[in-house]
Amino acid sequence: MGRLKDKVVVITGAAMGLGLAAASEAAKNGAILSLVDYNAESLEKAKAELLSKYPDIKILTSVADVSNEAAVKKYVDDTVKEFGTIHGFYNNAGIEGRQAPMVEYDLDVFRKVIDINLMGVYYGLRYIIPVMQQQSYGRIVNVASVGGIRGVMNQTAYVATKHAVAGITKNAALEYGRDGILTNAIAPGAILTPMVAEAFKQVNPADPKAAETIYAQANPTKRLGLPEEVGKLVVFLLSDDCSYVSGQVIAIDGGQSNSY
Ligand code: NAD
Repeated sequence: MGRLKDKVVVITGAAMGLGLAAASEAAKNGAILSLVDYNAESLEKAKAELLSKYPDIKILTSVADVSNEAAVKKYVDDTVKEFGTIHGFYNNAGIEGRQAPMVEYDLDVFRKVIDINLMGVYYGLRYIIPVMQQQSYGRIVNVASVGGIRGVMNQTAYVATKHAVAGITKNAALEYGRDGILTNAIAPGAILTPMVAEAFKQVNPADPKAAETIYAQANPTKRLGLPEEVGKLVVFLLSDDCSYVSGQVIAIDGGQSNSY
């Protein structure tokens, strides 16, 4: 059994970090998985890891860059061809970009962050919402960040795109609620994934562990979050237990975003 029994769930950025943790929680809850990532090798490893834990689950993998519109259309078409429909969408793939003061920010990196974090999220919605409309049912979880609620030093492109994801989430909820499609965003704080490990290296290249400790101490809970804690929230938002929550940007950050 499980909260997602027989639901077809598409997860982007599924090869590691928050995407893989959510895939694992969704598998535990009975979901049928369509996993998307542009890192082919890690995606295969993720599939093998999931199948070793949950041998009975069905998994389709698609190697695709979410910033490529044609590739997004293809992973959506392939999922429908394989599993018949899509019930849930965890629109998760994203990058941080390089940290730099706003006026020195590399323009090519800025555009790349927009292409992946904003256009990638939008393309996914553009092609999956019509599939969900056909069955008058859908659950969508976009991934914003606490950087979609407040500013974060030296992360202009990231913060701009994550605020945009929060905005797109509200519009999707408004425009498609009548079709039985509930759309929310999550706003994680610092959760220990490969992306955050890389960020700590940028903050303090000589001693990334020291940067991690400072972040943990600034949090009311005195620790970083775990990917599986985020996965459990995502499973709730993708399930029928989430029946009247829509258009929300839900922080999962140990309470840190309430501080100033
Ligand atoms: P991660 O770097 O650990 O994993 C991201 C995964 O997405 C990787 O497997 C990567 O290959 C894939 N990916 C990246 N760009 C892609 C693209 N263009 N097409 C297809 N796949 C792509 O990152 P994470 O920490 O798991 O972050 C996942 C999401 O959560 C991101 O949107 C990130 O901004 C957001 N987020 C993370 C944190 C955190 O603390 N980890 C906090 C707030 C928001």
